[in-house]
Amino acid sequence: MSDLVQIGIPARGKNARRPEWLRVKIQSNDAFKEVDGLLGGLKLHTVCEEARCPNIWECWGRHKTATFMILGDICTRNCRYCAVTKGRPLPPDPDEPQNVAAAVKHLQLAHAVVTSVDRDDLSDYGASHFADTIAAIRRFNPGTRIEVLIPDFMGNVEPLQALLDARPEVLNHNTETVPRLFPKLRARGDFERSMQLLQRADAYRTASAPSLITKSGVMVGLGETLSELTDVMDRLRAVNCDVITLGQYLNPTIKHTPIARFYTLEEFAELRKAALARGFKHVEAGPLVRSSYHAATHVPTSTPVSPG
Ligand code: SF4
Repeated sequence: MSDLVQIGIPARGKNARRPEWLRVKIQSNDAFKEVDGLLGGLKLHTVCEEARCPNIWECWGRHKTATFMILGDICTRNCRYCAVTKGRPLPPDPDEPQNVAAAVKHLQLAHAVVTSVDRDDLSDYGASHFADTIAAIRRFNPGTRIEVLIPDFMGNVEPLQALLDARPEVLNHNTETVPRLFPKLRARGDFERSMQLLQRADAYRTASAPSLITKSGVMVGLGETLSELTDVMDRLRAVNCDVITLGQYLNPTIKHTPIARFYTLEEFAELRKAALARGFKHVEAGPLVRSSYHAATHVPTSTPVSPG
């Protein structure tokens, strides 16, 4: 792949027709209905639904897995690519940690992924609720690996420390895009703050959690250049990030930032190669890749599970 300014096929207009490799068959089945009923009954939110993830039919219907979204379904930030509702959230539901744990048990998840909306309105940015959820999952599911996909806690050290002390097996924090596009797409985020978070997680690992795996993800097709993408890979490796996910951005509605480019399957294969060459232990790259897509396979099955 040459270092072109931008790779991929230009997407034309807000309603750009998706290439064949991005088309997904909508297919409900009994497993899908079971997951749907379970989550509804426990009043749980998932990023699968809230973010309108194209993989929902596969994840729920084939693998019987979902990514739990805690701390409500209203986000305090206003990222331009994200489908989650923005506004003033409700107080955290004290029953949510137990309910997530019950769902993990029912679904017999060997690897549970928990994320959240951003809660800049809470004094600890929601970290204690994350820690309570990790503890509850552990209590009911002692063999389950726990991956948390966390916000940046506005760069505060104490919430991150509290979360790391709860001992998730995987700490994921997505940069989502390249630094140049942060002001336009993630106005309340900060690329350097995200790097600092991952660097602190790496320092924590060195000091007291050697088996912790760190992970990050980037959406492509938002207008970034190839060299900006490889720079992000370099920055992530500079903080010893283990796993990277790279997937095609799809605008959830025509009100969201339009798709700039569709990357081809060959280009994803090249990005994967470029990331592996930089030393990532696992690279998940493809049109429909999301940070929780096939998450159980992103880490070795031999990863020790914390006793809690
Ligand atoms: S890829 Fe992640 S967010 Fe999408 S449906 Fe699967 S588990 Fe849910």
